[in-house]
Amino acid sequence: MNQILDNPFEYSDTNKRYHTFSYASKKRYGSKIAKIPLNAGFTCPNRDGSKSTGGCAFCSAMGSGDTILESSSSLSIQYETNLERARHKWPDCQGIAYFQSFSNTYAPLDTLKCIYTPFFENTNVSAIAIATRTDCFSKECAKWLSEMQEKYRKDVWVEFGLQSRHEKTARAMNFAHTAEDAKCAIALCKKYELLCCLHIINGLPGETREMMIDTARYVDELHPDAIKIHMLHLLKHTRLGDAWQNENFELLSLDEYVSIVCDQLEVLSPEIIIERVTGDGLADDLLAPLWTSKKTMTANAIDTELFKRNSWQRRFAK
Ligand code: SF4
Repeated sequence: MNQILDNPFEYSDTNKRYHTFSYASKKRYGSKIAKIPLNAGFTCPNRDGSKSTGGCAFCSAMGSGDTILESSSSLSIQYETNLERARHKWPDCQGIAYFQSFSNTYAPLDTLKCIYTPFFENTNVSAIAIATRTDCFSKECAKWLSEMQEKYRKDVWVEFGLQSRHEKTARAMNFAHTAEDAKCAIALCKKYELLCCLHIINGLPGETREMMIDTARYVDELHPDAIKIHMLHLLKHTRLGDAWQNENFELLSLDEYVSIVCDQLEVLSPEIIIERVTGDGLADDLLAPLWTSKKTMTANAIDTELFKRNSWQRRFAK
């Protein structure tokens, strides 16, 4: 059977039965868009002691920015170099300046202005994406970003880590933020017409399948513009990685993960863009599960499972 012709999902022109970032960006920006990861040298309140120390249990020394290639160079060089690399693969792609590492609003507003203004002014930058914590995003910052978005007619995306809606998990993993913080941060983005994305992680220790689906339901309630769904991957030199090496606790198999992601997609509204269905850690630093380094295989398995179920994003009405 032809998986493309047979696809009933409205927001797709391929075999994907969920609303991919690639589909959304062709509609919104008119071409392929590449997110260019940048490290602006911020830190994180969950590491420097103002919220907690040690950070989230899975976070690496790079502050979840492990895919960044040129973190020691100036920001403009990081951007231009990595955009050029992206264009080797996709010659016509536009670039989003993606401030990925640590908490990219964790500084006084004047400092943020100095960092972000050149990217608003740079005509080679099509949009700006800022990853930060939900408890680290002020009204003043949202207002300024909104003004800049309007002035330069350039989308601003703000990405927040929710990871799980469950307090028990948040405490055990030392997130030092709550599901309520996510609600406030999304409301602030909506008020100032900024695009927003929430990240969630499947396979956190102690979580059942129902808890993970419940987190997806919570995301649906908050209704951000996009979501990134990740599998917990354990990296070397992280607290969770060390704990796994000592205790070898159980992790999700590929089949379990695929099945959970499909269940989650089935509860998410079709307009919510699914930016990712799996994460990527640097292969060298990855301890487990090893299947997470095979992103295409995971994405294909999700496509196949949705096809077999004859299902798609928000298959079942609320
Ligand atoms: S909030 Fe982000 S950067 Fe900070 S410790 Fe957690 S994962 Fe790392």
